[in-house]
Amino acid sequence: MIVMKFGGTSVEDAKAMRNVAGIVMTNAVRRPLVVASACAGVTNALLTLARSSPEAGREHALAQVEELRVRHRKIAHDLFSGEVLFTVQSQIDAMMDELRDLVKSIAILGELTERSLDTIAGFGERLSTLLLCHHMKQQGADCVLVSAGDVLVTSAEYTRAVPLREAIDERASRIIAPLLEAGQIVITQGFLGATEAGVPTTIGRGGSDYSAALFGAALNAEEIQIWTDVDGVMTSDPSVIPNAKVIEEMTFREAAELAYFGAKVLHPATIQPAVEKNIPVRVLNSKRPDVGGTVIVSEGSFGARRGVTSIAYKEDITLITITSTRMLMMHGFLARVFAIFAAHRKSVDVIATSEVSLSLTVDSQENLEAIFGELRSVGAIEVVHDKSIFCVVGEGLKSSPSAVAKVFRTLDEHAIPVSMISLGASEINVTFVVEGKDIQRTALALHEAFFPD
Ligand code: ADP
Ligand code: ASP
Ligand code: MG
Repeated sequence: MIVMKFGGTSVEDAKAMRNVAGIVMTNAVRRPLVVASACAGVTNALLTLARSSPEAGREHALAQVEELRVRHRKIAHDLFSGEVLFTVQSQIDAMMDELRDLVKSIAILGELTERSLDTIAGFGERLSTLLLCHHMKQQGADCVLVSAGDVLVTSAEYTRAVPLREAIDERASRIIAPLLEAGQIVITQGFLGATEAGVPTTIGRGGSDYSAALFGAALNAEEIQIWTDVDGVMTSDPSVIPNAKVIEEMTFREAAELAYFGAKVLHPATIQPAVEKNIPVRVLNSKRPDVGGTVIVSEGSFGARRGVTSIAYKEDITLITITSTRMLMMHGFLARVFAIFAAHRKSVDVIATSEVSLSLTVDSQENLEAIFGELRSVGAIEVVHDKSIFCVVGEGLKSSPSAVAKVFRTLDEHAIPVSMISLGASEINVTFVVEGKDIQRTALALHEAFFPD
């Protein structure tokens, strides 16, 4: 079997859904499990309306629910007619009524919990898969919709629930495998899960790629396909670097570093389940299905020949420097600092230490004030916002001091100030921090240096 995951732009409207149905049906002999995201922009809209639901925002939130109703009814209208149209629109209405009732109850309670937020966030994928499944049936496909929540069991850490792998393996074998074996095309939702007790959860923004990998690993897929809106993983983000090139083949390690450092073409957690089972991940363009895309495998066929593979960056980074109030770092200083971050479930990206101070970066403002409060008991702290992390990735960096030198020579030539350099412990990345305002010129300069036209 194979897993075919389609992102938001791949299912954004009726035309896109028709296109997806065609791609899936062409691959029917490979026994696909289709994992779909919400239509582009819908998850953002749901989260915004949920956050405005308490009390004062109620009318605004209800108006947004109606906008979503209209958008999905229109897709149904473009895809179906007669009896089927009536059935699908009634199902959409039933879901939207459920959403409206949720918004009203949040308004009455005056409080939005993370649990309610997850239930609301899940409507996007429930709607898109409903439309896609009806459309494929209408096209003659023998397909069936399985609720992701019935299979993708997670912890109850709402909005960032942790998948429970053994339970997922068991349920996927029991619920999905027999359907695929019977020759049916199975469609399910990305991003969504549920606790053992069946309470809806989500596994983090952009999580549909991760869902695809989890399902693929549970079902021992031959391949996990990530269908998106670009031709594959590229030498840099094509929305910033117009002449970025497609990388035909890369290793899991390279992909993991890139995804972690901001290349949102793949969710960072996607790679792990695929690595464990050695399942190749292929990134493809749903608008240009005949282009070969990128294949991500355990060992590249290019050996050690290649230097740098790609350049990624993460913006809105906060740089925190903690200086021990004693002259020299006491033992236990690092442990105390990291315990504070761990207690707030905050992940740290880049780290640099000296004898008396420690600098580190984090990528969101969430919980920061509380963390600062506790850090002050350990040392003096200095905080700088609006930084950006750049990460230059490539298996070839391991064996090539000249590639590392070229990174910094390029920055020097363009007079781009750098702080916090880290030659990644994985040996395949060079990571450094620049000012937020320098993102564009840093990306352009490095791309031109490593991938000249
Ligand atoms: P989907 O909705 O299909 O999951 P995403 O928007 O999450 O798609 O990811 C695709 C986007 O990732 C592309 O449109 C592109 O702008 C961005 N991107 C960032 N870095 C890269 C890269 N190195 N290669 C390809 N795309 C990238
Ligand atoms: N729809 C979800 C999001 O926008 C998951 C995904 O698209 O991967 O975050
Ligand atoms: Mg994505």
